[in-house]
Amino acid sequence: MKNCPLISAAGVLVLIILVIIGQWQISMDRGDTAVVVMHHPDDVMGTNCALAAVVAHHKTNRAKDALDRAEEVLRRIESQMSSWRDDSEVARFRDAEAGSEIRVSPDTLAVMYAARTAFERTGQAFDVTCRPQLELWRQADQLDQEPTAAQLSEARLASSWAGIHLTATGIVKHEPRTSLDLGGIAKGYAIDLALQSLRQAELPGGLVDVGGDLACFGTQPGGQPWLVDVKDPDLPGSFARLQIVDRAVATSGDYARQIEIAGKRYSHIIDPRTGLPADAARSATVVASTAVIADIWATALSVLGPDGFDRLPEGVEALIISAGEHGRRFICTPGFRDLLTAPMPEDWECRSDGRTQVADNRTEESSSQEQYP
Ligand code: ADP
Ligand code: MG
Repeated sequence: MKNCPLISAAGVLVLIILVIIGQWQISMDRGDTAVVVMHHPDDVMGTNCALAAVVAHHKTNRAKDALDRAEEVLRRIESQMSSWRDDSEVARFRDAEAGSEIRVSPDTLAVMYAARTAFERTGQAFDVTCRPQLELWRQADQLDQEPTAAQLSEARLASSWAGIHLTATGIVKHEPRTSLDLGGIAKGYAIDLALQSLRQAELPGGLVDVGGDLACFGTQPGGQPWLVDVKDPDLPGSFARLQIVDRAVATSGDYARQIEIAGKRYSHIIDPRTGLPADAARSATVVASTAVIADIWATALSVLGPDGFDRLPEGVEALIISAGEHGRRFICTPGFRDLLTAPMPEDWECRSDGRTQVADNRTEESSSQEQYP
């Protein structure tokens, strides 16, 4: 936790390992040859990054250009939304006087609208205004001392959407202490934009993986779907493999970037409803149509635990690992089970309560939503 540099995961364990089974060169059915061109930019959002483009073997230059453009997109979003850079738009908002409108880029504004909707949809479990609480726990980590009740309640008061008004061009700051942390959403948004730029190169397939969160389109060479291994949070290796077509996967875990106070470990994700570090899940893996949705819900389910399944929008699938009295529990939605390449292990539970209601609400409301996360 100390010295963590960026909006996403400094030193984060890579939870999901991209498996490019086709390796570098595979014959396509029609006799043409496709290759996967890989690009591993250094230190994007403080974590490992892998970009992949599937391309006919005589067009690898086109793939390289597309991968460079995708990297630029990731770096641009990082520079706008990082909590750790003094020149980001998030830093400008933090330093601005109360009462003024802070003009921000269309990307930051889109993320803020998505974050506001997510705050409502997740029952306030996902809250980008929780930065005063995050800072309090980071400070506690450094002092090696838990925050007091008074500090906690002050930080909770300072974390509120009441201090913010979104306009068409920026964010109005009403309360001087209001500040933002987009660390639970910006990476997903950046992955989606980077993937969109790969798509524009009209390749048969592509994939963007930042710190284990990823999105893909098309197929690997040979027409095979992309395969994603979900790494075990406690043991070496992976415990599940998913077959993914045109979707995104994100994982949040309480073991990544932990806070440690007096020998006790706490999650880097805050439960904004209590001000305490979340403890409802060891890890939450979410599959969704976009990386921004997967990113939001992986963080939210870390706060809500399996009860949060009731709130999942249609088409969003999840697996939660929780630490129970009798060892670990694996709880997933039926749609997640269907993505597994092997039969679901017998000791996993499959749950889907409350979903229809959530899906119906979403359809009703979506016409009035600016950006649905
Ligand atoms: P990672 O960045 O490690 O992949 P997440 O996507 O779950 O993990 O994001 C966690 C980050 O989100 C935290 O480091 C913090 O910046 C921010 N955050 C923490 N708690 C919350 C919350 N309840 N709602 C929104 N953002 C949060
Ligand atoms: Mg997240």
